[in-house]
Amino acid sequence: MSRVLIIGAGGVAGVVVKKCAMLPEYFSEIHLASRTLSKCEALQQEAGKDRVVGVYKVDADIAAEVAALIRQVQPALVINVALPYQDLPIMDACLETGVHYLDTANYEPKDEAKFEYSWQWAYHERFKEKGIMALLGAGFDPGVTNVFTAYAAKHYFDEIHYLDIVDCNGGDHGQAFATNFNPEINIREITQRGKYWENGEWHETDPISVREDLDYPGVGVRASYLLFHEELESIVKHFPTIKRARFWMTFGEQYLTHLRVLENVGMTSIHPVEFQGHKIVPLEFLKAVLPNPGSLAEGYTGLTCIGTYVTGLKDGKEKTIFIYNNCDHAACNAEVGAQAVSYTTGVPAMIGASMMVQGHWMKAGVWNMEQFDPDEFMNRLNQYGLPWQVVECDSPFKR
Ligand code: NDP
Repeated sequence: MSRVLIIGAGGVAGVVVKKCAMLPEYFSEIHLASRTLSKCEALQQEAGKDRVVGVYKVDADIAAEVAALIRQVQPALVINVALPYQDLPIMDACLETGVHYLDTANYEPKDEAKFEYSWQWAYHERFKEKGIMALLGAGFDPGVTNVFTAYAAKHYFDEIHYLDIVDCNGGDHGQAFATNFNPEINIREITQRGKYWENGEWHETDPISVREDLDYPGVGVRASYLLFHEELESIVKHFPTIKRARFWMTFGEQYLTHLRVLENVGMTSIHPVEFQGHKIVPLEFLKAVLPNPGSLAEGYTGLTCIGTYVTGLKDGKEKTIFIYNNCDHAACNAEVGAQAVSYTTGVPAMIGASMMVQGHWMKAGVWNMEQFDPDEFMNRLNQYGLPWQVVECDSPFKR
C-alpha cells in the first residue's frame, strides 16, 4: 500500500501534491491536510479529486490531532511540508501510530532562531524500536545537495576533503522584495550568524559578511555569501574525512538593502511587541504583508543553479568536481504552476517518498539523505524534472 498523507498546503506542498498525483505507480492514494482547509481544497481541485482523495483541517502543532488524523487515513507515510516548527509533533504522531515520516527542513523552536538536528536525531532509537523510518531534509538543500555529496564520494573520490555547497537564484520575479519560500523561516535563516566547519570545529562569522563572486553555469557571476545551512551538520558527521565544509547563497544588492532596513527598524525580530492591546511578533506581521512565495510563479523568469563543489583524492591525486542542477522558473510554472524554489524542494520530497514506499530506502530509524545509496535517487532526479550535470574543474575557492 502506498497511501500517503501530505501535511501543509503552501508553495512546496503544491509541487509535492501535483508530482505525487502524476505517479499512481508509486502513490496509490493521496490525502492532504493543513491548517487552512480551503487551501487543501484548492490544491485538490488542481491535482484532481481522483488522485487527492481526502482533504482535512489539522493543527500540526498538536501531536494528538495529527495522530487522530493518521488513524483515520491509515497512510504508509506522512510527508511533512508544513513548517519546521511542526517537525517534532508530527514525528511524535508517527511514533504513536507506527507510520513512516519525511520532511524537508530540520526542527527549530518558534521562540529561538536556531536549527540543528539534535532534536530529531534524538528520535532514532524510538523509531528503530517501533520499526519505522524518518527521512530528514528531503528537499534540494538540504536534500539533493546531501545526495550529490554521497554520489561524489561513491563514484569520484577515495576520500573527500573540501565541500562548498552553492545556491544561486538567478531568477527575476519583478517584486521589490519577496522571499522564495516561507518568509519567516527564510529571514530567520539568513539573519543568523554564519557558520562553517574547518579542521574539526565550527567557526562563526557575522551574518552575510563573507562574500565570494562565483560563476554559475547558466546564470553568470553572482555575489555569494557564506551562511550556515543545516546539511553541513549532517554531512560532516557522516563524512568525517571532510576538512572544510561551507554553504554559499546569492543575494542581490536590492534584496540585501531591503533586509538591512527591515532589520534596522526591528521588523525581523521574533520577540513579541505590544501593539494596540495585542502581542504581535514583528517577523510574523512582516510575513503577512510580503508577497506569498507561492504567488510569485507567474511571470518569474530565469534559472536557479544549486550544486556542490567537492575536492578530494582519487588514486592519490587531488581533483575537484562540481555537481549541479539548473532549474527554469518559467518551465516549473508551465508544468505545475510553481516557481523554481518550490519546485526544487517539492520534487526531491516526492522522489524521497517514492524511494521509501518502494523500499529502495527503507531502514528503521532516523536518517539523513547522504546515509543511503545515491544512485537510484540520482536517476529519478533526471527522470522527474531536475536533471544534473557533473564537471571536473578547478576549485573556484582559495584554501
Ligand atoms: P509555506 O508557508 O508556503 O507553507 C507552509 C504550509 O504549512 C502552509 O500551508 C501552512 O498553513 C501550513 N502550516 C503552518 N503551520 C501549520 C500547522 N500548525 N498545522 C498545519 N499546517 C500548518 O511554506 P513553503 O511551502 O515555502 O515551505 C514548506 C517547507 O519547506 C518549510 O519547512 C521550508 O523550510 C521547507 N523548505 C525546504 C527547502 C529545501 O531545499 N530543503 C527549500 C525551501 C523550503 P497556512 O496555509 O494556513 O499558513
